[in-house]
Amino acid sequence: MSDLLVVKAKLKEVCQGFNVSGELAEALSAKVSSAIDDAVKRADANSRKTVMGKDVPFCFECSAKHGENLIVKAKLKEAAKGANVAGDLSEALNCYAHQLLKGSCERAEANQRKTVMAKDL
Ligand SMILES: [Zn+2]
Repeated sequence: MSDLLVVKAKLKEVCQGFNVSGELAEALSAKVSSAIDDAVKRADANSRKTVMGKDVPFCFECSAKHGENLIVKAKLKEAAKGANVAGDLSEALNCYAHQLLKGSCERAEANQRKTVMAKDL
């Protein structure tokens, strides 16, 4: 079973018009994982035992509709290391992942590459 926190098969759908390199999913998963770590710390600092969407960086004031869900919800509880996981956490992480991918596609394009790579994240 994969340890990825993101759904690898969906990356290509999100990065439309690009190829995605083999290590992109792993790198994106690592970014999501560290966002969860930060979110857990923030909840902790606010004396909350529940990690919420608002604890995820860069996700305030995003009103975009992100069609594809990139986050493996079943893995969140484990990734949050025992903290409670609010229902909106997965949505906030999905937003975060989409923003990272969007930036990566823009970087690949700026470098005239058709393949989005881990280093673009
Ligand atoms: Zn968003």
